[in-house]
Amino acid sequence: MPKFKIVTLGCKVNLSESDVISSRFEANGWLPVQSDEPSDLCIVNTCAVTLRASQQSRQAVRGAIRSNPDALVLVTGCDAQVEPEAFREIPGVHEIISQKEKLDIPGRFPVQHLAESGDGRHRLDTLHYCSFASAIKRTRPFLKIQDGCDAFCTYCIVPYARGPSRSMPSEQVLLNIRRLKDAGFREVVLSGIHLGSYGLDLRSENTRLVDLLKRIDADGVIDRVRLSSIEPLELSEDIIRLVAASSCICHHFHIPLQSGDDGILKRMNRPYSISHFKELVLKIHKWIPDAAIGVDVMIGFPGETDTAFENTCKLIEQLPISYLHVFPFSSRKGTAASRFPEHVESRIKKIRCQHMRSLGIRKKKVFYERFIGARLLVLIEETADPQSGSLRGKTSNYLTIKVKGPDELKNQIVSVRLVEMNGIDSVRGEIF
Ligand code: SF4
Repeated sequence: MPKFKIVTLGCKVNLSESDVISSRFEANGWLPVQSDEPSDLCIVNTCAVTLRASQQSRQAVRGAIRSNPDALVLVTGCDAQVEPEAFREIPGVHEIISQKEKLDIPGRFPVQHLAESGDGRHRLDTLHYCSFASAIKRTRPFLKIQDGCDAFCTYCIVPYARGPSRSMPSEQVLLNIRRLKDAGFREVVLSGIHLGSYGLDLRSENTRLVDLLKRIDADGVIDRVRLSSIEPLELSEDIIRLVAASSCICHHFHIPLQSGDDGILKRMNRPYSISHFKELVLKIHKWIPDAAIGVDVMIGFPGETDTAFENTCKLIEQLPISYLHVFPFSSRKGTAASRFPEHVESRIKKIRCQHMRSLGIRKKKVFYERFIGARLLVLIEETADPQSGSLRGKTSNYLTIKVKGPDELKNQIVSVRLVEMNGIDSVRGEIF
């Protein structure tokens, strides 16, 4: 059997697309191998979201060529889309594959026969996604239901790499969730580049994200559905109320704030105000007190003064936020922000990032400690860690829990009593 591997960088959407490619290769008779084993074909699925992600993508391509000297190396993903020349000039790269053709790569390498492709290709090309769901290795698979973005935040290269927003029709989403359920999955993470714009392009009635979630909730086929990141203006009261009342939609919101300063938000072309964000977080907390509220924060956007940074710190301090994703601004060629004046020195960005990360750790600790003594349902994601002997799982509200128990509990939802903090980002629990 010919062997393949995929090296994936970046977001949940990239991971979801790599799963689709992998499933299709396996269906075509290819054998997946681990990253340290040589393969006949190696695909690097790149990311362009920051300069660092871009550098890591190029390193990953060079690494793939070094460790697979006889392999065919294909490069795809956002970074390859926006800067194909940078990859083309790396000796050993066989071909750059565009975003549009990405999911079709396996079809170009038939071994025994092509997996049934039929003629019903979906606009997001995921009709067959879950036909091979059993090939997905993750316990909580990502289902890409939306791609592309029309928002053009001034720092972001993604709209140039992925084009305008496109959504998977709700029938297909439901079909794919049912297929994932049939393949044994208990939780599905709905992901997209700009998830909140889901359905806007479908141009018929009741196609918005809230309508889709209502259908999923009513369908009741899968134990858990989790939303990936959703923009502040798109997290509507309807969605929050629905999540509060639903028995399957996870009590977990991940919201990109980016800055706690109105002036900086404006320069970022982010269309909400700090007061809107504040109200939103307080509303979620009031209506769903146990909800995890995660927040993305960008540090050192051009023009971020000490005061602007302090405004972000103060905002986060005062709100019931559960965890932070902190990342420094990096200038991406081709974006408006790369041409802005007043770039912040790297040294300052580093100090501010450290400060914000410590704040994130403190917020997380406070959030976790609120649940010590509680009894919660945990989806066990892994078999026992050989060193600690503990299984690891996630609650609906995104707490990481470690418990002792048999490996057979992997992919089961078990009731756990939370006993004590286990380091800074997990809780030790006991099966109850
Ligand atoms: S919403 Fe903004 S940050 Fe998110 S993908 Fe679109 S342009 Fe980029």
